[in-house]
Amino acid sequence: MLAACRVPGTGNFLGLPHAAREAATYPEHVNLTAPKGRSDSHVALVRRARKANRILAVEYPDARCELDFETPLQLLVATILSAQCTDVRVNQVTPALFDRYRSAADLAAADREELEEIIKPTGFFRAKAGNIIGMAQALCDRHDGEVPDTLDELVALPGVGRKTANVVLGNAFGVPGITVDTHVGRLSRRLGWTDHHDPVKVERDLQELFPPADWTMLCHRLIFHGRRCCKARRPECGRCPLTTLCPSAEVQVAKPAPRRSAP
Ligand code: SF4
Repeated sequence: MLAACRVPGTGNFLGLPHAAREAATYPEHVNLTAPKGRSDSHVALVRRARKANRILAVEYPDARCELDFETPLQLLVATILSAQCTDVRVNQVTPALFDRYRSAADLAAADREELEEIIKPTGFFRAKAGNIIGMAQALCDRHDGEVPDTLDELVALPGVGRKTANVVLGNAFGVPGITVDTHVGRLSRRLGWTDHHDPVKVERDLQELFPPADWTMLCHRLIFHGRRCCKARRPECGRCPLTTLCPSAEVQVAKPAPRRSAP
C-alpha cells in the first residue's frame, strides 16, 4: 500500500497517484450532488465534475480522437474536413487524400478542382478546399511546411479556429487543450459545469474545474458520451452513469412523453 501524507492546511496528499489522491481527498461516501434548490460551491462543483470524469474514464476506456491520422498535418487537414461532417465520413476520404498529397507543399500546390473532387463527400467542399490550400501555403511560407505546436501560431493559419487548434495540440503534440465542440459544450451545460454557450467561455470554465493533464482525455470522454448516451435531442438518462452527478438528469428522466392529439 502506498504511503500518503497530508500537506498541512492544503488537503493535498503526497505519495499517491493523481486518481488515488483525489479519492483520498474526496471519499466515495461524500454526496457530490448539490442540495435541491441550492447551487454548488466551487469546491463542490470541482468534486462533482472530477468524479464525473473518473466515471467516464471507466465507462469509455478507449476514448480517443476518432479521426485517423499519422502526422500533425494529416490531423490538421482531417479536423478541417470534420466541420459539419462525421468522423466516419472523413476517415473514408482521407486515405486517398493523404496518398495524393503527402506534404504541406503538395497541398499548397494542389489543383483546386482535383482537391475538391476528393473531399466532396465531406460537404462544404469548396470552402474546405480553399481553407486547406490556404493553410498549407501559410505553413510553407511561415513554418517551413511544418505544423506549429502553439495555439497562437495555429489559430493564425487560414481556416484554423480555436477548436481545430486544440484538437491538433492535444492529439498530435500532447499539449493539454480543451476542445469545445457541440458535444463538449452541451454536456458541460447539462452537467452544470458552465452556463455559457460561447466556446471560449466554456473552455475557461472547464480549465478551472480540471487540471491540465485531464483536459484532452476529458474532451474525448465527453464526446464519446455525447455521441453514445447524452445525445442532443434525446439524452438517455435512464442508462447514464452520471445521473447522480447531473443536475439535468431528473428533468430529462421525468420529461413526459409527447401527448398524442385526439383522433
Ligand atoms: S444524466 Fe442525462 S442529461 Fe445528464 S449527462 Fe447523463 S444523459 Fe446527459
